[in-house]
Amino acid sequence: MCGIVGYVGDNNVYDILIKGLHRLEYRGYDSAGIALANPSGKINIYKSQGKVSNLEDFCKDKNLEAKSGIAHTRWATHGEPSDNNAHPHFSEDGNLALVHNGTIENYQVIKDALIEQGCTFQSETDTEVLVQLIEYIKIKNNCNLLDAVREALKQVVGAYAIAVIEKDNPDRIIAARNSSPLAVGIGDNETFLASDATPFIEYTKDAVYLKDGEIAIIEKGEPLKIVTLENKESKVDITTLEMSISQLEKGGYDHFMLKEIFEQPTTLRDCIRGRVINNGCNIMLSGVMDSKEKFLNAKRIVIVACGTSWHAALLGKYLIQDNCKIPVEVEYASEFRYSNPILDERDIVIAISQSGETADTLAAVKIAKDMGAYVYGISNVVGSSIPRETHSGTYIHVGPEIGVASTKAFTGQVMVLTLLSLSIAQIKKTMPYEKICELGKAIIKIPSIVQRVLKLNDKIEKLSMKYTYAKNFLYLGRGYSYPVALEGALKLKEISYIHAEGYPAAEMKHGPIALIDAEMPSVIIAPMDHVYEKIVSNVQQVKARGGSIIAIVNEGDEIISKMADHVLEVPEMPECLTPIITSIPLQLLSYYIAINKGKDVDMPRNLAKSVTVE
Ligand code: GLU
Repeated sequence: MCGIVGYVGDNNVYDILIKGLHRLEYRGYDSAGIALANPSGKINIYKSQGKVSNLEDFCKDKNLEAKSGIAHTRWATHGEPSDNNAHPHFSEDGNLALVHNGTIENYQVIKDALIEQGCTFQSETDTEVLVQLIEYIKIKNNCNLLDAVREALKQVVGAYAIAVIEKDNPDRIIAARNSSPLAVGIGDNETFLASDATPFIEYTKDAVYLKDGEIAIIEKGEPLKIVTLENKESKVDITTLEMSISQLEKGGYDHFMLKEIFEQPTTLRDCIRGRVINNGCNIMLSGVMDSKEKFLNAKRIVIVACGTSWHAALLGKYLIQDNCKIPVEVEYASEFRYSNPILDERDIVIAISQSGETADTLAAVKIAKDMGAYVYGISNVVGSSIPRETHSGTYIHVGPEIGVASTKAFTGQVMVLTLLSLSIAQIKKTMPYEKICELGKAIIKIPSIVQRVLKLNDKIEKLSMKYTYAKNFLYLGRGYSYPVALEGALKLKEISYIHAEGYPAAEMKHGPIALIDAEMPSVIIAPMDHVYEKIVSNVQQVKARGGSIIAIVNEGDEIISKMADHVLEVPEMPECLTPIITSIPLQLLSYYIAINKGKDVDMPRNLAKSVTVE
């Protein structure tokens, strides 16, 4: 979480930093700040609680002249969101300013030691400890900033991406990473630094992603230099970015979330492209083909993920067990890492993360690798940490997702898991060729079917008015629709702040049924599948207790449609392909309920995208 931007060059430093912060605001938005290295040898820091626009207002009458600068949008972990705790933080003598993404686990020990040395602190953050430590080492060892940063980082335990500027060297930024992302953009006589490439995409397509333990020395007029904590020079590996600026704008929609919901026919097409060939009869994921032997011999697959990706993972379990006959376990990455997992070289661990930077998932990847498992990554962000750390994997290719509540990344993940399962089924021969062809042909049609489902938009907007003031919601589904119910409930919680529970419909009678009354609506996902008859009785049970029902059913449904208060019809699909289709109305329902309540759907309170803290 949190966004870092840095710039060294001749253009307007302040404008570039602020624009960059807006692009990274999805990563955190409780406060923002900027440090400008003034040519006259002074660092000016301006900070403000709240969003980046507050910082802009605050900076209106300030001295914004600068040769370089660093900026930050925060998602607080240590100390409340406030002007004081906002980054950047000064060192005691005001010579250094630093921004930080992540957490320093041993900050208290270091802080106590520094206080004993006479150091005073202005904030409650773990970050300030870092800048004070760097300054302390610099003075004590009488060394330069780079050596002080290297030494300080050796003493620190935790996750960080940092950027530091120095009063006496206004043309230079020193940046480093361990577990939190950082990218350097190499322009024409100017260099950018950011948590992802979005702040510099319109200036350069040449990016360098720092690796854990690397320090970048970004200096005007000098080529980028990267060293390790041990001061060994690292190779500068330049990646050419494929992202375009239009992908980062709202394109006429009121919110990124709505744009991203409506982009799904395109993003799913992009996700499938080149992977479903031969008129649907050949499903080719290069990641699977490259590791054919591993998948052929796998005794078990463990999928690790967090949040929405964990819901996609649950669908992965149904898909892989049904289609490939390999046992699958699904784990929250945050639990997996501390559960003494038992793995060996015949296990495959699949790690799913939109950003490719989710701290818990990344840690799970490292554990799985250490234990000898084969690790496969599913991510959206090319060059991010999880794709780099895993043995092989697949990108979902849905383009940048800016809305904090995931929509197109979820359907992209489910699509990749579907293709993965069919790809494995093909090589393991666990499905007849005709069945693969039938599913492949249906997959090709999914983008246009999603387009049709999006026509429910107006109906859902109208329907949402009736439920804006509900205090609780229950989302129910069985089989493939159970993870869809979980994801639908999560979406509503995230952006409308209405309490919602997703539940396997049959489990309802073991507890949640006690909650049902006229005030508690249930959203029931009931496409025509092998558990349809079963869910009919669950619908009856809700009805019998006076609960109102919004049902997602297939076109032409006759039984549940008669019982439900509101019906949203979607086209019928082969059972394992229904989740992508039935998720769409749930995304729209959450969006409109949140809008009716006047909530900020793109930046819901307390949340942030790309969760790079534990
Ligand atoms: N731990 C730091 C703080 O609370 C940085 C949090 C972040 O990554 O935004 O200020």
